[in-house]
Amino acid sequence: MGHDDGRRRVPEMLRAPGAVRARLHDEHITMAHGAGGRSSQALIEGLLLPAIGNETLERLADAGTLELGGAELAVTTDSFVVRPLRFPGGSIGELAVNGTVNDLAVSGALPLALTLSLVLEEGLSAESLRAEAEAVGRAAARAGVEVIAGDTKVVEHGRADGMYICTTGIGAVDPRSDLSTAALTAGDRVLVSGPVGAHGMAIMLARGEFELEAPIVSDTATLWPAADALLGAAGTDLHCMRDATRGGVASALNELARASDVGVLVRETDVPVEPAVAAAAELLGIDPLYVANEGRLVAFVAPGSSRAALAALREVAGCEQACEIGEVLGEPSGMVLIDTGFGGQRVLDLLAGDPLPRIC
Ligand code: MG
Repeated sequence: MGHDDGRRRVPEMLRAPGAVRARLHDEHITMAHGAGGRSSQALIEGLLLPAIGNETLERLADAGTLELGGAELAVTTDSFVVRPLRFPGGSIGELAVNGTVNDLAVSGALPLALTLSLVLEEGLSAESLRAEAEAVGRAAARAGVEVIAGDTKVVEHGRADGMYICTTGIGAVDPRSDLSTAALTAGDRVLVSGPVGAHGMAIMLARGEFELEAPIVSDTATLWPAADALLGAAGTDLHCMRDATRGGVASALNELARASDVGVLVRETDVPVEPAVAAAAELLGIDPLYVANEGRLVAFVAPGSSRAALAALREVAGCEQACEIGEVLGEPSGMVLIDTGFGGQRVLDLLAGDPLPRIC
């Protein structure tokens, strides 16, 4: 085990006990509370869970589950406020379907149906709305789900950026699945389903705030085929999956390290990043590991099944560049370390602010 030396280098004082809840010290909501980083954690653990928490919500999973007549259902809900509404590789309508379906998929549930709630701004062109309605229809057909309920509200001009979309997704938990945010085990291999950071970078460039042009297209896609392949190849050796959306792979790994009271080691040189994404991220001073994805998952697989799981994943369209990027360590509990490839190791922490607001 070549990582033993690295583990010893982390001082005792850095160990973060996973059981301690974050507290909310801010007096007002800021953009950072929506970023999926440290402030989001404080908002959820310090304000929302104390008021409405229960055993299911406390798991902080991508979907909650409930038993109904012997069947286990997964339910998830989401809202989409991406700006601009259309971007290279997708649009808000497609994102709303994929984002919701993916929270079911990484919960080990076959996506069945969606609800769709539209908040429209007075003045939005009917053509824009029709384009997004059609994008929802196409993405739903691709993901094999039907929109079975909906709602429409209109707010005054200037009170919303064109449109917001809220969704709820319902799925059937797959009998092969035995996933939990608390199931990460020392020795598990960490897989990522493809190159990271494309979605967030595509949105940033689409806003035209930077004098930068690059051929970057969002990775938005349904993740059920990837989840299905992993469940088939690894069964109960597949311990957990998460779609690496807001806050990117780094935030997903931190949340799960904390939920499972384990450490996670990432080998930076093994993380796949498209050259254009890597170049744009470097110019903007952003680590691609913190950039949002809308069609990428991380999976934790027991070592005996990790080769088969990776091979199965690479057979899935869009996941050809899936990689093993690290492993789960017994300690430091609740923390993610990154091996920079030159014998150096540092902590890959949750982000404090929001460098990329409103990317989903
Ligand atoms: Mg998710």
